[in-house]
Amino acid sequence: MKGRTFIITGPSGVGKGTIIQELFARQPKLYFSVSATTRGPRPGEENGVHYHFISREQFEQWIQEDAFLEHAEYVGNCYGTPKKYVDEAMDRGEDVILDIEVQGAEQVYRKRPDAVRIFIAPPSWEELEHRLTGRGTESADKVRSRLARAKEEFHFAADYDYIVINNTVEEAVEEIRAIIRAEHCRPAQRLPLLNAAL
Ligand code: 5GP
Repeated sequence: MKGRTFIITGPSGVGKGTIIQELFARQPKLYFSVSATTRGPRPGEENGVHYHFISREQFEQWIQEDAFLEHAEYVGNCYGTPKKYVDEAMDRGEDVILDIEVQGAEQVYRKRPDAVRIFIAPPSWEELEHRLTGRGTESADKVRSRLARAKEEFHFAADYDYIVINNTVEEAVEEIRAIIRAEHCRPAQRLPLLNAAL
């Protein structure tokens, strides 16, 4: 069976990074799609692990070469999902996790309607503000832009297949694992197995 694509979206500062890290610690057979970005690395971020950090020129070239499954601009920087690695992982039967924002999620869903969309929400607006400010990785200006963007992103949550509230990382990860498991029980996934076996 081919792997499935799980899109994980949520406002900046909601804790997606931590949730995804913990998800992989518990379910290492998933494949994380490493995006390309024109933003500079934060302390501790490694090229090829957290992102492929590339120039705007190179990003434009990848667009020309149709190398992205989706791409979008987010608060002044470009982000994109390299298509090749996602397809290769799915062909190997691995489930792919995409950590992307709403515009990218929409593009993927239009091209691949069987992709599962999961929206991660904070327990409250105040909590999001607190987390984003407390992270200390962005200037006050960037924090303001990211908060404004987060407000817009909330409007898209209703279009998603699932909403996970990040009360605790533990609960959020368990909910995502439950979603992945349930999605593998859908008839489209199970009937081919049954037909082959019966
Ligand atoms: P950050 O700069 O905080 O790492 O990411 C900013 C936003 O860009 C986050 O919402 C993240 O999910 C999103 N993002 C990361 N990679 C991609 C990508 O390949 N495509 C799109 N559309 N968004 C991405």
